[in-house]
Amino acid sequence: MSGTLVLNASYEPLCVVPVRRAVVLLLLDKAVVESAGDRVLHSEHLAVVAPSVVRLQRYVRVPRRSHAPITRRAVLARDHERCAYCSGRADTIDHVIPRSRSGRNVWENVVAACARCNHRKADRLLSEIGWELRFTPRPPHTAIIGHGVHLRRPDWEPYLHGWSDAVVA
Ligand SMILES: [Zn+2]
Repeated sequence: MSGTLVLNASYEPLCVVPVRRAVVLLLLDKAVVESAGDRVLHSEHLAVVAPSVVRLQRYVRVPRRSHAPITRRAVLARDHERCAYCSGRADTIDHVIPRSRSGRNVWENVVAACARCNHRKADRLLSEIGWELRFTPRPPHTAIIGHGVHLRRPDWEPYLHGWSDAVVA
């Protein structure tokens, strides 16, 4: 079974739907083709090109996923593997308010951090060491891809770039 990548009007990837559903979106003028793909869909009376990527005509508001599981991989993906303290390459995650100081394990309190900053910060608060966050951590943004991610096609890459499937978890 093949799928079609659906983008929000803003080009954020939203989900993968069955091709037939994407064709319906096009027929209803709810979406436009971004990448045609090379597949043809045959029905009894006609053949239509099966779109590989479509984009919604109207922006759909997607709630942030505060319930998404907080995994190291997901946090690194959200933060583009950049340390929240020095912008260096991150490979650990840090609780901004340390758990030992009653910091909660929520998206707003976890950031990607390089091992060095993580180690230096230890169990201290930012205010105690005069550090600042380089960005405000939030729950991940998009519902991305879910079960369709294994269908990932080469011509989707430009649209998925920077949107790791780790966000799905
Ligand atoms: Zn760092």
